[in-house]
Order: sequence, then C-alpha cells, then structure tokens
Amino acid sequence: MHSQTALHLPCLSWASGYGCSNSRTHLAKINTRCVRRRFNGQHGRSYLFDEVVNVIEGEPYDRQMTTGKHVVCDISCCLCGVTFGWKYDNIYDGDPQQKYRKGKFILERSLLVDVE
Ligand SMILES: [Zn+2]
Repeated sequence: MHSQTALHLPCLSWASGYGCSNSRTHLAKINTRCVRRRFNGQHGRSYLFDEVVNVIEGEPYDRQMTTGKHVVCDISCCLCGVTFGWKYDNIYDGDPQQKYRKGKFILERSLLVDVE
C-alpha cells in the first residue's frame, strides 16, 4: 500500500483561509492578515495581504499601474504554478499613501478558493 506523502504546509493550524483554486494549496489566512479587501486588481476584486505562504516569487520588474510605477514580482502557486497576483517589491516615490504596499501581496480573489 502506498501512502501519500503530505505536503508540508507551514500553517496547518489556520482555521481557514484562502487557497489556490487549482490545487487548493493554502496561501493566506482569512481576515487576520488581510490588510485591505475590495482592492481593485487587474481582473476585478483583489485582496491585499501582508503575508502569504506556498508561493513562488518571480523576478522583479517595473510595472506601470494606476497608482504609479512600481517594482513588482509575480507570485504563483508553489504546487501547480498558477499565477495569482503580485508582490510589491518596491514603491517608487510619489504618493506616500502608496508606501504601505511595499512588501505586500495582491491576490486576485477570482483565483482563490476558501480552504479549511
Ligand atoms: Zn496551485
């Protein structure tokens, strides 16, 4: 008999959270660290998190956004490779109100599922 090796997730104690819609890999806690909901991403509603797990960060690149030009890197599922959103790697000067986003993560809500 062959027992399936469990994927070691760092946050199994989470009561619930958001996961990859494709592989259901745990990505983010619900509520507690969600900095701001109803954030407008590229494809509709996105959430801004200050901590996510089980993602792979791509190479940083410059991206022009409605809030200015920022350095971002795409983040994707460590298991299946689906890209959910991006991380703000650096915020160019300009609106100081945008600075809080540095180091935070935008996840597209439509690509997430609720997981337990
Ligand atoms: Zn996945």
